[in-house]
Amino acid sequence: MIQYVDLHTHSSASDGTLTPTQLVNSAQAAGLVGLALTDHDSGNGLLEAQAQSRKIGLRFVPGIEISAEYPHPGTMHILGYYIDPVSPGLKRMSDILLEGRNNRNPRIIARLNELGCRITLQQVQDIARRGSVDGRATVIGRPHIAQAMVEAGCVSSVKQAFDVYLGSTGAAYFDKERLTPRQAIECIHAAGGLAVLAHPVQLRTGNPAELQNVIANLVDAQLDGIEVWHSDHRPQDSQLFLEFARRYNLVVTGGSDFHGTPKPDIALGLGRQNVRVPVEYLDRLEQAWKQRRERESVKVPI
Ligand code: AMP
Ligand code: ZN
Ligand code: FE
Ligand code: FE
Repeated sequence: MIQYVDLHTHSSASDGTLTPTQLVNSAQAAGLVGLALTDHDSGNGLLEAQAQSRKIGLRFVPGIEISAEYPHPGTMHILGYYIDPVSPGLKRMSDILLEGRNNRNPRIIARLNELGCRITLQQVQDIARRGSVDGRATVIGRPHIAQAMVEAGCVSSVKQAFDVYLGSTGAAYFDKERLTPRQAIECIHAAGGLAVLAHPVQLRTGNPAELQNVIANLVDAQLDGIEVWHSDHRPQDSQLFLEFARRYNLVVTGGSDFHGTPKPDIALGLGRQNVRVPVEYLDRLEQAWKQRRERESVKVPI
């Protein structure tokens, strides 16, 4: 019998709704044998998820998801796998990323106020804090702002909040400062992890040649892998990404991008299209990580 894993999930340490413990328990209840937690910009949920996974006997990969600089209207997210939850490298990276958010969020809220939607940063922080790992709201994102807008009656749904205000063409959109793709990969490596290009469809490259160019540049910047299966991918997308993985000798990953209630159509372990990721991809990811670690440890400083 084939066993399955989910290598892309979010908890209440970022904008997911399940706590790390609940997420790990849900993964086991869904019949999965392995899980990666990949919260946006933060490793705050990793130790809790790791402890719970040990307790119930689930294979666990400590991860992160970083937004890198990329031209509009695309977005580039880079996943970090097997990052060390207590490394100074992780702390440095998330401090930089959280500062980018803390500079952006008040600007969005100020614009919303100008537009007549009266919400406060305090309300948004309270929403992010509900069910957060230790009662602290560290990663505050647009989904939390959208929720505050719904609760204040400014919009009727999170979707409407994004469509009209918060999305990249919305009236209250501000970008946050980001790392360049090269910096993001370097930070992930400095935190002990492997860097994997997330959901390449979201790059919105016009054609396969353009996509190949982006991937070749990332490979030059030491990218380790590519996410082939994801809730936003059609079968033909995954097929193309698999070909690029072979061409550039990249490790292949897949995951649902589960968030809980904010994305109710995405099921843990199944995603939007009932695509499951066999455990052999977790085996290969782990192997690639061990190989990289060995390579790095034999490097002699010049
Ligand atoms: P942020 O990290 O604060 O820039 O917000 C990004 C989060 O907003 C991600 O989890 C996205 O999935 C979510 N998001 C982006 N666009 C939409 C949308 N149109 N509807 C719902 N969620 C969205
Ligand atoms: Zn998210
Ligand atoms: Fe993403
Ligand atoms: Fe994600």
